[in-house]
Amino acid sequence: MFAATAFAFAVGQSQPDLDKFVYPLAPALACPPVVTDCSDIPACEPWAAKAAELVKAWYGPLTQLLATDGIDPVTKEHSGKSFQPPAKIMLVFKKTLNVPAYCSGGTITINGEWVTAHPDDLGMVVHELTHAVQQYPRNEIDAGWLTEGIADYTRWWRYEPELHATAGRTKPDFSKAKYTDAYRTTAVWLAWIEKKYDRRTVPALDFKMRQGKDPMPVFKQLTGKTADELWDEFSKEFK
Ligand SMILES: [Zn+2]
Repeated sequence: MFAATAFAFAVGQSQPDLDKFVYPLAPALACPPVVTDCSDIPACEPWAAKAAELVKAWYGPLTQLLATDGIDPVTKEHSGKSFQPPAKIMLVFKKTLNVPAYCSGGTITINGEWVTAHPDDLGMVVHELTHAVQQYPRNEIDAGWLTEGIADYTRWWRYEPELHATAGRTKPDFSKAKYTDAYRTTAVWLAWIEKKYDRRTVPALDFKMRQGKDPMPVFKQLTGKTADELWDEFSKEFK
């Protein structure tokens, strides 16, 4: 009797939600022509050539990992706006800057002094290239931390996965860290959420960011928990 009831209940249910187990990929967009400019620091030419190859290899995958097709990864509804790549991607090297690099539109400006001292830091190009694919409008909340978190997610969890990292792995100091710290702290937390709860987390957040809408309800929608509750849980489970 009990089994029969349970069976009737089970078949009466809607389809189990299998979508949460699959990372939704948007169709890959072709990489625009990549132009390098080392006129300010010609010694960076060899590094610039490597960076340009990396851009060509990773532009397509980055457009797949984010909701560039304008389709909500959860509801599958189209926002009416898909991402339009710029006419070209420029890599401009300057002798020095007060940051390692920054991105504005399709132009990534890179600190020549920094890459001379850190020649293995090609991953920062993936971070900056992510910004070139994000191009979020102003958001209704202060969500700059999430923009940086997503750019470090694609860098550290897709390009050079921390899953396989040993030394150098992100270890947040939970006495003061918070998910709004941006960069690697936000990235490791997003990676934990997507693994534990829902593979659509990053593209679903990206979808909201593309529309300038508050992304925070996505956490509750996908996990049943608020961002604060998820951070608290992450801090207890993180090893
Ligand atoms: Zn950044």
